[in-house]
Amino acid sequence: MDSSPCELCGGEVPLSWERCPHCARPGLFPNVRAAQVPAEREALHRRYSAVVQDAELRGAQQAVEAFEMAARGTKAVMARSFRELDRLSSSTRELFSTYYNLVRGETRLPDGNEWDELRAVADEKLFPGYREHVRFAALSLDGAGLPHYGDCSFVFRESMIAHRTSVYEENSALFLKQHAFAPPPGHRATWEERAKLAVAKHGEEIDATTSPEQFAGMLLGPGATPEEDRFIEAHIWGPMSLRTVERILLTKPRKGQRSARKAIQDRLKGVGLSLEESL
Ligand SMILES: [Zn+2]
Repeated sequence: MDSSPCELCGGEVPLSWERCPHCARPGLFPNVRAAQVPAEREALHRRYSAVVQDAELRGAQQAVEAFEMAARGTKAVMARSFRELDRLSSSTRELFSTYYNLVRGETRLPDGNEWDELRAVADEKLFPGYREHVRFAALSLDGAGLPHYGDCSFVFRESMIAHRTSVYEENSALFLKQHAFAPPPGHRATWEERAKLAVAKHGEEIDATTSPEQFAGMLLGPGATPEEDRFIEAHIWGPMSLRTVERILLTKPRKGQRSARKAIQDRLKGVGLSLEESL
């Protein structure tokens, strides 16, 4: 299905459009609508139900329920470099950039590797005609992001992103490659249904002995290379600034950054944020 009816006039709106072509009213964000099509939701529900039924047979029902409850509290987190934190904290007029903005704005060169090509093909498949609007984050229980992308983790405010965020099973570029760029339905979800996706993905790993302390590491964990990182990918449509952020964690504060960190702390105070440093 590549269109869905306008909630207001009933006309068909192509999934990649942000506005109804008939009445021009803004609708839901295209990535969210793509997660809401019946084929996706039904396939996700089947996966989820199978995992829940299996958990009952294994005596793992309570543990899986506890995991689902925890997953409902996950946040979208983006890891970025300290340099990027310095730029973003200079003003709330500074915005988080997408990979495509950076390359097009000639502020960085494309990586020029196999990964670049893969990302481009996968994004066009997942986000036809709107890939440049999508920012990538990961679901996290404890606020920590994936260290391969930098040691500053930005935790986004749910109220600022829930309406425009969808989530995906894992690294979407790799997932699409594995499925010859024709991914089966049931691996993407709206923000509200992210816990269901988390159960469908991880339920089988959970048994009666799994403790809640293990949940954060199941949901997100760095691999030896970025390709081996373990996470549920969050796709956030549209711009974000420091006002979109509720917490910033710095995982590896370095000595040489001391004066820069102090200046950043002072600027963050102005927007009600602070830099949480973990040693
Ligand atoms: Zn309409």
